Order: sequence, then C-alpha cells, then structure tokens
Amino acid sequence: MQRYPVLNLWVDDCDMDRALNRVGEFVDKGDRVHTIFASNPEKNYSVPKNPFLYKMFQEADLLIPDGIGMVMAANWIHGASIKRVPGCELMQNICSLAERRGYRIFIYGAREEVNDAAVGELMRRHPKLKIAGRQNGYLDDDKTDELVRRINESKAQILFLALGSPKQEFWIAKNRNRLHHVRVCQGIGGTLDVLAGTVNRAPEFYCKTGLEWFYRLMAEPSRIGRQIKLPIFAAQVVMKKLM
Ligand code: UDP
Repeated sequence: MQRYPVLNLWVDDCDMDRALNRVGEFVDKGDRVHTIFASNPEKNYSVPKNPFLYKMFQEADLLIPDGIGMVMAANWIHGASIKRVPGCELMQNICSLAERRGYRIFIYGAREEVNDAAVGELMRRHPKLKIAGRQNGYLDDDKTDELVRRINESKAQILFLALGSPKQEFWIAKNRNRLHHVRVCQGIGGTLDVLAGTVNRAPEFYCKTGLEWFYRLMAEPSRIGRQIKLPIFAAQVVMKKLM
C-alpha cells in the first residue's frame, strides 16, 4: 500500500475496504504485532516533536486517513484518490470482521464506566464477537506486567488501545514484543466514549461534508488549542503545492 508524505507526516493510500483487508491479512498471516495509527492534521505538528513517536508513525503498518485535511491534502498534492477512514468507524468494522471470522479482541482504555458501557454496547451490536478481555485506562504503571499477562492469557489477536495519543502509541511501543498472540493493535483514542454514549459523534451531515472537526470544536471549545493548527495546515499545504 502506497504511503504519501503530507507536510511533516504520512498517510496511507487506503479506503475502508482496503484497510479491513489489511487487518484480515495481518491476523491470518502475520507473526507479529501490526500497528494501526490515525493520521490527521493536528498530528502533523505534534508527532515530529518527539523523534521516538515520529519513528513509530514512520514504521506503523497502517496510517489511516482519519482526518479530512490529510485526505484532501494527499489527493491534491499527489493526485491520490484516498477516502477518509475515521478511526472510530474502522474500529467498529474491525469488530464486525472479528465477529465473522472468530478473532478474539481485547479492549484497553478509557474510564471504567466508559470501558464497561462500550463493551456492553459492542456485545449488543455484535452478539457473537469474542471479547476476550477488557481493562480501563487508568491502571498504575506497576500493574502493566499483570495486564500484559492477562492479554496473553486471553489469546486476543486484536488489541484496541483507547488511552489517547500519544499515550497509546508509547504503550504499544514499550510492550509489543511481549504480546504473544496480538497481531493487530489499533490506537482508537476517544472511540469508547462515543460507543458508551458519553461523547456524541458528529451527525452524518458534518461527517459527509468534511466538517466533523467543526462540530467537535462547537461541542468541545477546549479543543481550540489543537484545532488552531488546521488553518496553518491548510496554508502550508497550499504553499507546498504552489512551490
Ligand atoms: N485515557 C485513558 N487513560 C489515560 C488518559 C486518557 O484511558 O491515562 C482515555 C480517556 O478516558 C479517553 C481517551 O483516552 O477515553 C482519550 O480520548 P481523546 O478523544 O482525547 O483521544 P485522541 O483525541 O487522542 O484520539
């Protein structure tokens, strides 16, 4: 799968079907943990600040076009035909795939009541899904060995990490070599909050018109610090194209 550079980061040439095909291959044919991270305009500025995180993104097995800005920029700069793959939709589609194929999943992250409610919602939507284990995201560091042991004992092949970025990326970097059965690890940020209903996803109109960022800004004005980067990103993309 082609990987396109967009300013300071990259994004993979994929759409939902191709991303899901890759996940199936990773689980069926892989012999190591494959990482799936979300690429978006904000991370274009935060990720390169940390060389270790930057390398993790560079070496990720799938960098999904989670943000509309990355999709538009890659298509414009490189003439690509990438379609947006929102991380929260990919996660739910991976659950459907796992239900059909019998893959076992483990869910680590979010507050206890959110994690519990999200798992309940997944069981309701996917009655045959094998949820091999779950853990809230507020575990003391000295309990990590115990968690790794539980993940291994659960024989989960897919691990969803909902610790927020970059905590989830650092967690997998540190622990991936100790995970015996996990073949796919997706960083899912705040997806469990959406599944649990504690955070509303933008209505379809905003998603379809590429304005999900605007809806989220209206719903959570404190995101302004992150989203202030969007106009800078757009201006830099235009400069890049014109140069
Ligand atoms: N979180 C967690 N442990 C922590 C810090 C955060 O489990 O130590 C969870 C938090 O409860 C929330 C998610 O990580 O469910 C972060 O969501 P956010 O929307 O900020 O993710 P991002 O925008 O980074 O994808």
